[in-house]
Amino acid sequence: MNAYRESEPEKLEDRLSRIDSEIAGLLTRAVEGGELDFDDGLKLARTEGAELDALVLAADHVRHKRVGDVITYVVNRNINFTNVCFVGCRFCAFSRAPREHDAYFLSLEEVAHRSIEAWERGAREVCVQGGLPRGLDPFYYRDILHSIKTATPSMHIHAFSPMEIVYGVELTGMPLRDYLLMLKEAGLDTLPGTAAEILDDGVRHEIERIKLTVAQWVDVVTTAHTVGIRTTSTMMYGHTETEEHWLRHLLLLRDIQKRTGGFTEFVPLGFVHQNTQLYQSGDARPGPTTNEHLKVHALARLMLQGWIDNIQISWVKMTTEMTQSCLRAGANDYGGTLMDENISRLAGATSGQYLSPSDIRARIRKLGRVPAERNTLYKILKVHGREEEAQDEPEVSAAIPSPFVTLEHSRAHAAHRTGSED
Ligand code: SF4
Repeated sequence: MNAYRESEPEKLEDRLSRIDSEIAGLLTRAVEGGELDFDDGLKLARTEGAELDALVLAADHVRHKRVGDVITYVVNRNINFTNVCFVGCRFCAFSRAPREHDAYFLSLEEVAHRSIEAWERGAREVCVQGGLPRGLDPFYYRDILHSIKTATPSMHIHAFSPMEIVYGVELTGMPLRDYLLMLKEAGLDTLPGTAAEILDDGVRHEIERIKLTVAQWVDVVTTAHTVGIRTTSTMMYGHTETEEHWLRHLLLLRDIQKRTGGFTEFVPLGFVHQNTQLYQSGDARPGPTTNEHLKVHALARLMLQGWIDNIQISWVKMTTEMTQSCLRAGANDYGGTLMDENISRLAGATSGQYLSPSDIRARIRKLGRVPAERNTLYKILKVHGREEEAQDEPEVSAAIPSPFVTLEHSRAHAAHRTGSED
């Protein structure tokens, strides 16, 4: 029996009895499966100290009730087919002008080759996204799908952000629904719910200027759901937004999910600031604090429970220690092995471009939880039991702290941040 599970209910009850009664009441309601509204969520988002510790613990408790102790992951490969882009999002360090020395554009053959290579290494999903080059062949996105499916017919293609879909619609002149159906016919399985950043037009204007509006993002995603293309959902935090924006964003996703049921997961994406124009110009804070990472994952679990029950961490955007702490603050999915992660690395992230399945499993086991490989739609492909533990490389940072140790660390870190850090 897992010691963590045995001790959890008592710890939570005990902790709730020692904190602010209003916060304790909200957390009790959430743990009992009750739905929280904007005001409830905002109060939780503003917690600090013992109340924040209790929020994290309650989210972990709800995670256990909803999805148990399995932590899933998917073996996949990122294929960023071009970094040429005219959009100019201020938070992006990946895009290049066409004449820059490191601008690139992969041929369809190279994209297919990467998919074959991924399949041979055990991947069953390719995640295909790129920049938006001017003058792209109107049917280029369809052709990428053809080329991957021809090379690897059983590979799940998770491709094209809502921004790319809007661009494809613009290039072809087709109605959105018809365009999505054409892509589906050509092999598109699911759509990443990226380009969401913060679903608030004011914030979007500050951080990306000419990207798509909230209404366009919602239109692409809900239309995809209605034609049978499921999507993920994401939120980028730690830049210019406030807690109110987190809550509005999460509630919008929850409302969409109530209507369509099309989201497979929610992925909080911490802003990687170092090499971005948005940060360097002084217009954004330097990425999320530790407390913000924990709050966003915990709030996502509580606000979305019963509607989106898969909360993924983004290991490329956080330290290993932070990743593990977020998995104890409500998250239950490790995401993908990725193989060629570039977007976060170029923005300044240092967590690497690839994590092997055995590395991921070892990290999961360090938490006392059970690793399981899944497909993109969260069908469990294989649960990796204790008997396989010796085969998994123990390439994990020495000790995984409890969320409370991490919170202490985070308070010191947050205090430091108010000084001259970064
Ligand atoms: S985030 Fe995407 S759309 Fe925006 S500049 Fe970067 S590559 Fe282009």
